[in-house]
Amino acid sequence: MAKRALITGVTGQDGAYLAQLLLNKGYEVHGLVRRSSHAGVDDHRLRWLGIGGAVRIIDGNLLDLSSIARAIQNSAPDEVYNLAAQSFVATSWQQPLLTGEITGLGAVNVLEAVRLMKPDARVYQASSSEMFGRIQEAVQSEATPFYPRSPYAVAKLYAHWMTVNYRESFGLHASCGILFNHESPLRGSEFVTRKVTDGVARIKLGLAGELRLGNIDAKRDWGHARDYVDAMWRMLQEDEPDNYVIATGRSVTVRDMCRVAFEHVGLDPDAHVVIDPALFRPAEVDVLIGDPAKAKRKLGWAATTSLEEMITEMVDADLARLKAAA
Ligand code: GDP
Repeated sequence: MAKRALITGVTGQDGAYLAQLLLNKGYEVHGLVRRSSHAGVDDHRLRWLGIGGAVRIIDGNLLDLSSIARAIQNSAPDEVYNLAAQSFVATSWQQPLLTGEITGLGAVNVLEAVRLMKPDARVYQASSSEMFGRIQEAVQSEATPFYPRSPYAVAKLYAHWMTVNYRESFGLHASCGILFNHESPLRGSEFVTRKVTDGVARIKLGLAGELRLGNIDAKRDWGHARDYVDAMWRMLQEDEPDNYVIATGRSVTVRDMCRVAFEHVGLDPDAHVVIDPALFRPAEVDVLIGDPAKAKRKLGWAATTSLEEMITEMVDADLARLKAAA
């Protein structure tokens, strides 16, 4: 019989790529979606991947335990992937309580619903490299102490430890993927990579003249979301639940990432990038670089897409989208 999966946040970047991966493996894929009365289900990412009708949509909300419990009862999943969150760091200072409720407590609602309704289901919790924040070691591994620097990161840390706690307290097969930044053409345009590739495409097509950015000296370890959802799946195929860092092991400044995007279309970033102090954050995570050795050793996983390949794919996708809309 086909395996069944339930994905929260299925309409987001990672949810869409994970749904595609699981459908290709023959899973029956259910997706928990927060339906809004005016907009319905925003399934544009699923459609972009050609899986628009293939995911079984279940209405629900991470803040409503009963809705998650019902979703688990009805879908009877073998695997539950909790990808739903308020995931934008900058917004988390404007909406710290909502971020805590969705990103922190929401994860516990998922754990509780699994414990109550289907305790043998395997659980994936989307932990984040932002939990390392003001880094305590030059290269961050599963053993590196955390030091969160935003309401988002604090909420993710709570969800992370609650997942570990449910594993240890109740024997849930619950694993945490500490994923470093991962991007794609499906990344939301508020995140810096997509903001840059969309901005570069607009400038190239004469739709914009400048690109406003904040702290371009920040360094991130950027991988491709398509690679990273494969790591999520691999974690749940292991006999024992565990925590894994998922990263490329290479860190690049926003400035250099930006240069890749501009140079791909023959433009000079220095002629178009404007530094806007309003885009700096109250507390910054200056540099992140992950050590994916454990994932390689235990899961046989490694990133396969370079930053250059990913950024050029994103610029090309934004150029195609803007041309089609014109
Ligand atoms: P994050 O690592 O989850 O916060 O991912 P982001 O893509 O939002 O930000 C990555 C880094 O880019 C952070 O250090 C930001 O401060 C920096 N950055 C610089 N300019 C911008 C900008 O205009 N938008 C965003 N989102 N980030 C920016």
